Amino acid sequence: MSPFFFWSVVCFVLGLITGSFLNVCVYRMPRGLSIITPPSHCPECNSRILWYDNIPVVSYLFLKGRCRRCGRPISPLYLVVEVITALLFLSAYLFSDTLPEIMFRIVLFSILVLASFIDIKHFIIPDESNLIGFIFAVLMSALFPYLQGCDVWYMALADSLLGAFTGFLTLGFVSFAGSRLLKKDAMGFGDVKFIAMIGAFAGWKLVLLTIMTASLIGAVLGGALMLFKNRNLKGRIPFGPYLAAGTVISVLFGKSIIGWYFSFCGI
Ligand SMILES: [Zn+2]
Repeated sequence: MSPFFFWSVVCFVLGLITGSFLNVCVYRMPRGLSIITPPSHCPECNSRILWYDNIPVVSYLFLKGRCRRCGRPISPLYLVVEVITALLFLSAYLFSDTLPEIMFRIVLFSILVLASFIDIKHFIIPDESNLIGFIFAVLMSALFPYLQGCDVWYMALADSLLGAFTGFLTLGFVSFAGSRLLKKDAMGFGDVKFIAMIGAFAGWKLVLLTIMTASLIGAVLGGALMLFKNRNLKGRIPFGPYLAAGTVISVLFGKSIIGWYFSFCGI
């Protein structure tokens, strides 16, 4: 087996296991429960889930998506979270050259999955994950300046902080202007803190690309959702998942997109 294939499998499996843990966090964090104890249990009948029924994807398929004890269905969203996390971990490996770079991206992607699914279910993005992500991104940037495309630690640190600041100001302005124009909260402040954390990872150029990409996905997908589900504009649509999708695209393809854009403009 080639090392490339071996490490691809390792990252994918690590993603599945992390996804399984993120499911626990998505369920417990908004409810103010500990993410460590007690061990997993069925939300319907409260019976404890044994280790062999808690293997990512495999157990779900084997039990045909039902609890072993009470037979009530387990949300397929658990499976979705595990598979998405695994694919993101795999792409972090495929698009990175060094171990710190892989770590930098899998931590970011894990936080994105966590925040997106909590936002979808509860319309909030937890402060804890934003804060942990921000601190991790700033420290890693200073330790490994090349993560921000810099040679010296203080330039990388500045780029990381400037990224957070740029994201915060841009979405903060949109949020402020939107609430003035629409006379209601256009965007939660949670999204503003979320993009500041993303900016600390992405730097100021890519955080702007993230906001543009997220708005584009939001406009297309949000429009389609409204058409098919007949939802009116008053229904709340969480913006977190769009920001997360925009982040993944700009982190993995941002340099190519920006390069292509400037060569297209003949600059
Ligand atoms: Zn049960």
